[in-house]
Amino acid sequence: MYAERVKALNPYVPGEQPKDRVYIKLNANENPYPPSPKVREALSNFDYSQLRRYPDPDAAELRRAFASIVKVSPDMVYAGNGSDEILSFIFYTFFDDKLPVVLPVHTYSFYPVYASYYNIPLHKVPLEEDFSISIDKLLEPKSCGIIFANPNAPTGRFMSLEKLRELLTRYDSNKPVVVDEAYIDFGGETAVPLLKEFHNLIIIRTFSKSYSFAGARLGFVIAAADVINTFITVKNSFNHFPIDSIVQKLGIAACEDYDYYKKINAEIAETRDWFGKELEQLRYEVVPSKANFIFTKKAGLSGDEIYKGIKKKGILIRHFNYPGIEDYVRISIGTREEMNQLLDAVKNLRMKCEKGI
Ligand SMILES: *Cc1c(COP(=O)(O)O)cnc(C)c1O
Repeated sequence: MYAERVKALNPYVPGEQPKDRVYIKLNANENPYPPSPKVREALSNFDYSQLRRYPDPDAAELRRAFASIVKVSPDMVYAGNGSDEILSFIFYTFFDDKLPVVLPVHTYSFYPVYASYYNIPLHKVPLEEDFSISIDKLLEPKSCGIIFANPNAPTGRFMSLEKLRELLTRYDSNKPVVVDEAYIDFGGETAVPLLKEFHNLIIIRTFSKSYSFAGARLGFVIAAADVINTFITVKNSFNHFPIDSIVQKLGIAACEDYDYYKKINAEIAETRDWFGKELEQLRYEVVPSKANFIFTKKAGLSGDEIYKGIKKKGILIRHFNYPGIEDYVRISIGTREEMNQLLDAVKNLRMKCEKGI
């Protein structure tokens, strides 16, 4: 009954959402704070009768609103149904089966899923000891393009703009370098200014994390205007209306209250830095993070033990059972209260393991 290609599918596994009890959810890098009050207002004022009309297929007003935040012209941004949809279009648009797309071995785990969906070969290169991305290693294999997240996931490590510039300078200017800035609003420095110099730079953003929109599905790509036009062609060959009329309105409202987001995201960054220090006091090794999560391990405990011990206390964190990072857990940054509860659970874990229970 099914097409041959379905057998080869290898889907993404999102953070769990168990229903057996109420958990503190620190496993999907969601924002602990609600969207801007302006978004609530836009939602209450939304004229439900408009639902009978198709939305603007190109989300022009929303693109204008977002473009003014990132300080580019509106023809340099395209809006998609979450950045996952944008990633799908990126793999479809730029990569084919002749040369592999190069990425770090540990980065967002949806990239290999799309590569396999479109039959695109992958070449994964190792990270440095400290989990930073090596540009020499990215440049070594013959490739059709490069993709990674900056700050990277699940490590939280940020690649400086100088390094990124070096990568772009040394790479073939006819091949895309895709930089997924899902976590850029938590302290990194955006690559947007480099778009002036490098036509092959493609930047992805999501509203899921820093705009508290994970449930609303909105992402953007920022690139040269002709690249954006190609995206619109791809979109119109797949789904004419990726962003519904409610989300278009809410997204505009969010952009109009950017100051609110600057405030909550600065708070998250502050909580992250404080929480990282607290973990270090408990002799956890903490990877320096510019994202809204912390990647950490503790000598004598496996990643799975930490994850399970914390889950017993009603808190969900993420463990990736991949070779090289199996000892680590990724902890999303919640509110201070949530992080204090997590610290209690972590201390409890330590006492148990030191007593050998
Ligand atoms: C969360 C995340 C995404 C997905 O974002 P959506 O807009 O929710 O689809 C993309 N890239 C990275 C690196 C992420 O962490």
